[in-house]
Amino acid sequence: MVNIIDGKNLAEKIRAEIKSEITAKRLIPALAVVLVGNNPASAIYVRNKKRACAEVGIKGIDHALSESVSEAELLKLVEKLNADKNVHGILVQLPLPKRINQEHILNAILPEKDVDGFHPVNLGKLLTGQSGLRPCTPLGIMALIDSTGVELKGKHAIVVGRSNIVGKPAAIMLLERHATVTICHSRTENLADVIRDADIVVAAIGKLRFIKGDWIKRGAIVIDVGINRLPDGKIAGDVDFDAAVKRAGFITPVPGGAGPMTIAMLLKNVLKCMSV
Ligand code: NDP
Repeated sequence: MVNIIDGKNLAEKIRAEIKSEITAKRLIPALAVVLVGNNPASAIYVRNKKRACAEVGIKGIDHALSESVSEAELLKLVEKLNADKNVHGILVQLPLPKRINQEHILNAILPEKDVDGFHPVNLGKLLTGQSGLRPCTPLGIMALIDSTGVELKGKHAIVVGRSNIVGKPAAIMLLERHATVTICHSRTENLADVIRDADIVVAAIGKLRFIKGDWIKRGAIVIDVGINRLPDGKIAGDVDFDAAVKRAGFITPVPGGAGPMTIAMLLKNVLKCMSV
């Protein structure tokens, strides 16, 4: 029988733990949230993150900048936030306007305040097995897999997608846990056959229901990270859930899987910033 992994429920438990820790230790964590321009999707993400912060007792400090802000002005703000002892974490919502070099901005954030875990120092620490701030979505993916109770050691894990924020770090975290890891991408040949061998599938592609149900090995763990907008405004994942659910051992739904876990891990990272 398939087990649907309830990411919403797991995220709620993590948030409750964070709230208890903040209350018990009388912490006053603060996260600076920088939003540039009027991208409606970014505005929704930022709103959700700030709401989640408020619920657990993290102070969200808003920095909404106009679409026309220059790279130099944005860098100046990041430097100011880096120097501010009352700001523990800095989040710059992506994507930034094309005029602004995203790497310049992300690299300017102090690694100790890099709640998203995108700074090359933090990604380098991940690669070399050192402790540091790690990207939120891959942390959420690992927590979802761990919630199944399945031992990862020696399992064949396949990550579809090789972005710096999801696919690559997720693959490294799986490798760290002794899974045998295959990373697939748009040039991978015979993707269906590769996936048929997977004990664990992480789908981070951004293509609606791209992974078909009959590609899934019976009993496999399927983590669907994809967020794809349907014509009716609802969202669906990268995996054909209705078909895959008939073969998987464990599977995450979209919505209610990886999404809420990403936010829970962001909150955890804010607390981690207070101790690094
Ligand atoms: P990117 O667009 O940066 O990366 C997509 C990856 O998918 C690329 O590596 C690309 O390969 C690969 N890909 C594209 N087409 C194919 C194909 N036909 N076959 C195999 N691989 C393919 O996306 P992100 O990593 O940022 O995000 C992936 C998905 O996850 C998106 O839907 C995004 O919205 C969602 N997401 C969800 C989050 C959450 O909180 N739930 C957080 C972050 C992202 P190549 O490198 O060769 O181009």
